[in-house]
Amino acid sequence: MIDEGRMREVARDLLASGEVDCVIGYARGSVWYRARPVAISDPDKVDMLIFNPFCMQNLATWLKFEMKENGGLQGKYGVVAKGCTARALIQMMQENGISTDDVYTIGVPCPGMVDPRKLGDDVLAMEDARVTLAGERVVVEGERRKVFSRDDVLHETCLLCRYPTPPLYDVLIGEGIEGRPAEDKNLAHLESLPAEERAKYWEDAFSRCIRCYACRNACPLCYCDGCALECLDPQWVYRSVEVSENTLYHLIRAYHLTGRCVECGSCEFSCPADVPLMELNRKMARDVERMFNYVPGMDPKAKPLLGAYDPRDPEGFIL
Ligand code: SF4
Ligand code: SF4
Ligand code: SF4
Repeated sequence: MIDEGRMREVARDLLASGEVDCVIGYARGSVWYRARPVAISDPDKVDMLIFNPFCMQNLATWLKFEMKENGGLQGKYGVVAKGCTARALIQMMQENGISTDDVYTIGVPCPGMVDPRKLGDDVLAMEDARVTLAGERVVVEGERRKVFSRDDVLHETCLLCRYPTPPLYDVLIGEGIEGRPAEDKNLAHLESLPAEERAKYWEDAFSRCIRCYACRNACPLCYCDGCALECLDPQWVYRSVEVSENTLYHLIRAYHLTGRCVECGSCEFSCPADVPLMELNRKMARDVERMFNYVPGMDPKAKPLLGAYDPRDPEGFIL
């Protein structure tokens, strides 16, 4: 468990000293199994900050919203950052989307996030409850007490996470933890299928997409000023919701995130249609790692994958 008291103390000191203008963190959501992002600029309000197994959103996305809303960042931000949030911030720094001076990273080693849907309707029906994740167990304590195995209720993204501790931070709340990723059986199975079956799998998945754009909006690394998916001249993708246009939408996103996606799961978490976006993201990430020995979001001074060229780069995939 993260020491929430220590996290609040750090946030209060940062705001009171003027080191940052605003702290972006998590507050309790409208129900006990949800957390929501919050931006705090008054040191007296830091007691709102929480960190529990429902803090799934990647808070780097809120810097993107600030940039879009105000044409740039207004001051310095303290950001409560899990491993994947810190990696998104690092990736934005690599791309000069933000600078290291814009952000004070309040690092939190992340034990993983619970997918509320896996807790079951009877548990979600409780009026209020507290959830703790300790070792292999997730304990829900409310009107009733229920114990789950971690492997049964965490988001798949978190079960596969390799970097739960931020690779870079200004302060770390508690001790760093090692990633212990499970075997990615879904991706291995998908890769083992013949091309026609893979095509069918993705056609089925993309036919469910309603093109609400929530996946793009939730993604911290979809922060271009002019998005190709909204461009009307040329119009790369028609607005019609049909499998061919949906497929184009997802392929354009996948290519734009290749070598950049930090596997935070925010896109899939936001999807109302259960499109398995993370399988596509992980496929691209694993291929990049295999071919170029590159993992995004690890070092702000490293060059972005597509901004670097090495004559020894593999070229076999170029038609
Ligand atoms: S992907 Fe890793 S760092 Fe991000 S929420 Fe899941 S376990 Fe935490
Ligand atoms: S969030 Fe889901 S339904 Fe919405 S555009 Fe993305 S994949 Fe499609
Ligand atoms: S594509 Fe999805 S998993 Fe990758 S950085 Fe964006 S929101 Fe996170």
